Amino acid sequence: MQLPMAPKDLTFAVTRNENAKTPEEREQILANPGFGQFFTDHMVDICWSEWGGWHRPRVQPYGPISIDPAASVLHYAQEIFEGLKAYRWADGSIRTFRPEANAARLQRSAARLALPELPTAHFIDSLKQLIQADADWVPSAPETSLYLRPFMFAKEAFLGVRAAKKVNYYVIASPAGAYFTGGIQPLEIWLSTQYTRAGHGGMGAAKTGGNYAASLVAQQEAAANDCQQVLFLDAQEGKYLEELGGMNVVLVTRDSKLITPESDSILEGITLDSLLQLGRDRGYTTEQRRVSIDEVREGVASGEIVEAFACGTAAVVTPIGVLRNADLRIDFPVPAEPVSLSLREELTGIQYGRVEDRHGWTVRLDAED
Ligand SMILES: *Cc1c(COP(=O)(O)O)cnc(C)c1O
Repeated sequence: MQLPMAPKDLTFAVTRNENAKTPEEREQILANPGFGQFFTDHMVDICWSEWGGWHRPRVQPYGPISIDPAASVLHYAQEIFEGLKAYRWADGSIRTFRPEANAARLQRSAARLALPELPTAHFIDSLKQLIQADADWVPSAPETSLYLRPFMFAKEAFLGVRAAKKVNYYVIASPAGAYFTGGIQPLEIWLSTQYTRAGHGGMGAAKTGGNYAASLVAQQEAAANDCQQVLFLDAQEGKYLEELGGMNVVLVTRDSKLITPESDSILEGITLDSLLQLGRDRGYTTEQRRVSIDEVREGVASGEIVEAFACGTAAVVTPIGVLRNADLRIDFPVPAEPVSLSLREELTGIQYGRVEDRHGWTVRLDAED
């Protein structure tokens, strides 16, 4: 008998979708996919139980999941997810970007939420399996991709409060159009003082739905004030920058520093980490440390801060134009040739195979590398 947690090769049972979209229907969707509205024909499903470990890996038709009304995720929110993209290269091949980093982060999120850790090899295999079934769903127009959404939740039907003994892991995929249609507009961001998304010792560093649930009312407040995004401050003192609801924040200084806030309640973005590396390659110094809102205000006033941007997988990089609330307004300089957009160009160049991948970040999904 295999030990429950021993990594073993998973052999996926594949059930083709008999009601898959026709090539014409698919092409129509891929011509204008937007974000997160359409889903491919298949999904991956792997079961986990305390006694059996990871088992029953499947590729099956995309469709509703049946769960017991007492499934603990519905009551206690024991859930985590990931987000990464599959890119169509000019030679027709399909690659993704730093999937081991997403696998490692899913494991850290799992550890925090008392969920089982999916081995990295199984994570990457699950992406390859889905791409094998749905390769035709990876669009080829510039700046488009297939967004991959792995997620895991507590499926055990039990209302007692403890970590579930039955969990499922899934991967679904959704074609994504170019994020910016009609040019990149600097973000107007609402600085929330009433709400925080996470606190010291909480789940802020885990990619979990609960953090998003905590951010929605603040996002509504932002929208009501004509802002596209919300920036959260630290929960303890309300003084230090954390991040947006789903993107990390970077400041650029006159003396070529890239500064990003540090705290145990910030999600460690892989886009952020990659951009900081590309910045260091160009001779920028990078600092991950506490950054107070006062420092930002004074830095912009003195000319020390020359640019600010937000970053994450979905939008990659977006310049920040304004940060404001009822009591404060900071107008960031938006240079004619922002460093943020030049870094964005380099990063997307690597992701789409136009720029040499000198860090070995891309991984082929439709065949062996
Ligand atoms: C996913 C996410 C990010 C960005 O991470 P990437 O790996 O760059 O996509 C930032 N903040 C939060 C809260 C997130 O969930």
